[in-house]
Amino acid sequence: MLAMETIQYNLPQSRIPQAWYNIQADLPQPLAPPLHPGTLKPLGPEDLAPLFPMSLILQEVSTEREIEIPAEVRQIYAQWRPAPLMRARRLEKALDTPAHIYYKYEGVSPAGSHKLNTAVAQAYYNKVDGTKRLSTETGAGQWGSALAMASAFFGLECKVYMVRVSYDQKPYRRALIEAFGATVTASPSQETESGRAILAEHPESRGSLGIAISEAVEVAAKDPQTKYALGSVLNHVLLHQTVIGLEAMEQMAMAGDEPDVIVGCTGGGSNFAGLAMPYIGQKLKGKSKARVVAVEPSACPSLTKGRFTYDFGDTAHLTPLVKMHTLGSTFVPPGIHAGGLRYHGMAPLVSHVLDLGLAEAVTVQQLDAFAAGIQFARAEGIVPAPESNHAVAAAIRQALEAKAEGKARTVLFNLSGHGHFDMQSYLDYQAGKLENYEYPEEEIAMALAGLPSLG
Ligand SMILES: *Cc1c(COP(=O)(O)O)cnc(C)c1O
Repeated sequence: MLAMETIQYNLPQSRIPQAWYNIQADLPQPLAPPLHPGTLKPLGPEDLAPLFPMSLILQEVSTEREIEIPAEVRQIYAQWRPAPLMRARRLEKALDTPAHIYYKYEGVSPAGSHKLNTAVAQAYYNKVDGTKRLSTETGAGQWGSALAMASAFFGLECKVYMVRVSYDQKPYRRALIEAFGATVTASPSQETESGRAILAEHPESRGSLGIAISEAVEVAAKDPQTKYALGSVLNHVLLHQTVIGLEAMEQMAMAGDEPDVIVGCTGGGSNFAGLAMPYIGQKLKGKSKARVVAVEPSACPSLTKGRFTYDFGDTAHLTPLVKMHTLGSTFVPPGIHAGGLRYHGMAPLVSHVLDLGLAEAVTVQQLDAFAAGIQFARAEGIVPAPESNHAVAAAIRQALEAKAEGKARTVLFNLSGHGHFDMQSYLDYQAGKLENYEYPEEEIAMALAGLPSLG
């Protein structure tokens, strides 16, 4: 009889983490403070109050190691958490590698990605604070659908500015957002001053996350009943995603394996941080030696080619300035299909751990990402989101390096979402219509030249 090999490491519902892990408690150097966009002086919590509920603002600046997950949030998490940790045995065989490949699968959430982990938390804290309406941006539509679903659960209205190129490329994501009861507008739009200013200058603008953020922030700043919700980048968002890494640690222990390399794709940095930060915390205590690798698209290389400096989070310069790896807030990335990775900046926390040498960054071209996604789908039966394909490609690279060296290596990567709403991009890939984008050096140089001067 064929001996059964374990491929799933599942935890019971009772093992959903009780608290999120806050890396800010353990950093050898603290984060640089965010600055007020008008005065360029460090921000106080009250400066953010028009945009966020105070509970989330306090999480943003907290240095407490463990932040309790409210029972209402854990109850909703229980619909799909603990998420499975899988051993990609058929992929290992297809690659003929001695490496062990594990992936944490966040595509099991009803919204299809990790984004729901923070959407539920943010909607909850807003509800408790008395917020009536949430405004937000979405790139590929993953964040918009997650926040729309979470808003429906807590009886909040939800308004989504969807980057124009994704609005056109991904009509079914828009349909999903609307099915959950949210309103979707293509960005840039005529609804806001920020949108109108962009359209006046670039009537054909295909939009960017930076522009959509400006529109969503403007709406929240002007209406006391509306708050703004961001799907990545901010400390409290990364905090909420740490359930991924906390669960993965227990599951890797069940598997009797320790990761040598941890891989995640990075748009704003949240799914990567969710998996990696708990491990980086262990590294800081000398309890893990794992290398931590962030993977970004060659077309939008904020970690590998950007500058680590203060910049705005949005194009219209309505948000605070944060110190991060940035390509310049006016940079509009090429229209790659991984819409969730088209952001000019990177989470300050991810930028900071990279700067401290606790993580490294690599790039993947669009066509290599899709080739890896197809190879993964044929071996494992899951079609990854175009964003996640970047992590798959880097994980495969790791496994092939191990093979070339003839050495064992344990690779753990975050499969941040499924690609079931992104099948048009797979059609385009299979039809040979996708292309690699050269690193847009001139445009980035121009955007970097426009970085704010803090004299
Ligand atoms: C949004 C998204 C990303 C990129 O955002 P991060 O904040 O960097 O995680 C990656 N994968 C999927 C599936 C997404 O929806």
